[in-house]
Amino acid sequence: MAGTCHAGRRLGRVGIVGREPVIMAPTDSDASPSGGIDLQKRREMHSNHSDILIIGGGSMGLAAADWLAESGAAAVRVLDAHSPPHDQGAHHGETRLIRLAYGEGAGYVPLAVRALERWRALETATGESLFLPTGITNIGPAAAPFVRQVAASAKTHALALEVLDGTAASLRWPGWQLDGATSVAFERVAGVLRVERILDCWRERVAASANVTLTARAPVVAIDARAGGGYEVRCADGRRFSAERLLLSAGQHLAPLVAPLGIDLPLTRVRKTFAWFKADARYAPERFAGFSLTDDELGIYYGFPDIDGAGFKMGRHDSGQPLAPGEQMQAFGEHPDDLPELQQVIDRYLPGVGKLKQGAVCQYIRTPDEHFLIDEPLPGLIVAGGFSGHGFKFASALGESLGQWLASGQASPELDAFGAGRFRG
Ligand SMILES: Cc1cc2nc3c(=O)[nH]c(=O)nc-3n(C[C@H](O)[C@H](O)[C@H](O)COP(=O)(O)OP(=O)(O)OC[C@H]3O[C@@H](n4cnc5c(N)ncnc54)[C@H](O)[C@@H]3O)c2cc1C
Repeated sequence: MAGTCHAGRRLGRVGIVGREPVIMAPTDSDASPSGGIDLQKRREMHSNHSDILIIGGGSMGLAAADWLAESGAAAVRVLDAHSPPHDQGAHHGETRLIRLAYGEGAGYVPLAVRALERWRALETATGESLFLPTGITNIGPAAAPFVRQVAASAKTHALALEVLDGTAASLRWPGWQLDGATSVAFERVAGVLRVERILDCWRERVAASANVTLTARAPVVAIDARAGGGYEVRCADGRRFSAERLLLSAGQHLAPLVAPLGIDLPLTRVRKTFAWFKADARYAPERFAGFSLTDDELGIYYGFPDIDGAGFKMGRHDSGQPLAPGEQMQAFGEHPDDLPELQQVIDRYLPGVGKLKQGAVCQYIRTPDEHFLIDEPLPGLIVAGGFSGHGFKFASALGESLGQWLASGQASPELDAFGAGRFRG
């Protein structure tokens, strides 16, 4: 896990908690780094009612909580099944890519641009290294849909993109062994986010806030709409919490939690693997960029330079093994494809990458079209999920949009494209 973040203590405006509060003992919650807890926050921790409840304090939930902590706009409780950051969701493995020229669609570009601004602002506010501007190479046949879309989105949004053929790219980045028919689009401003360190920072900032409380190890098992408005949730150990508005950002459990409310979300869970390998000096971050790679025969891959001596890291984006929510995942190496599918890419393209150091498993929660699912299926109940293996880069911007939505009740129009309506009819 990443080290702690040196988030400064900030004071927000304090929201008032509670109709008929039920006094409960605080659980694993967030004392401020100094060891003290605001009086108001102590009251919140003892109440089971808040203005806003966030179910799932992972990438999106903590991002929204961080924005709400900064705004001080409301009394907020975050419930997470584990203690974030952790390796039971989709936010472990140290690093994530952030690309602006976007192979998944030009519509994402403004969100990616804002997200990068906000990542940089978070770095400034915390004094932490959270973003490494390694650049990103988008590699593949010029006719591949992803590669074409990278170029098209850069053109539409006037993003700087250098396009080289594979031979020139292999001279510039000797870690690659590419042929002249391959297209390489290099985006200099893109790079790598330190995902677990970011979650540490958000968690510390939330802990230092006057209005947001994180309750860890609190798996939610049921959600009920209250007769008078708002929602009540029940945790596995019987604890109950209620709020006027709910953000459900619970990854694999999002769809099963809302199904009893008559909401059918088309989300599937997929086992994904990634691994770190020994690599020579060609893979140092100064000499090798993060990458996406499309190979018509082998599939779609992504990877990272050797950061902090961890090794060259790579994973496969397409395919994966379907899993039911809650189903136990096989460890890395237990499925016969785990290492061979990465090794075939190394053998073909990456001459200085050596033996496996360590592999890991993670999960994608996918929608049918692999675009996000963000909506308000019932008044005051916002769902954010189906990030389909490419969501983290946007979390800083989506946290802001979701936080504003929760605080004001008004959704930002930029989220319209992610509505569940596109799957109906
Ligand atoms: C291997 C891998 C590589 C990736 N690479 C990239 C990349 O390079 N760039 C990129 O942008 N994105 C990438 N992604 C995708 C990105 O990491 C995810 O889209 C993002 O983390 C999803 O955020 P989330 O908040 O939905 O999920 P999470 O961060 O997993 O958060 C969900 C939280 O909900 C909690 N929870 C679940 N059930 C309950 C419950 N019942 N009650 C309470 N809490 C609950 C969990 O404990 C968890 O903390 C990658 C993902 C993986 C797996």
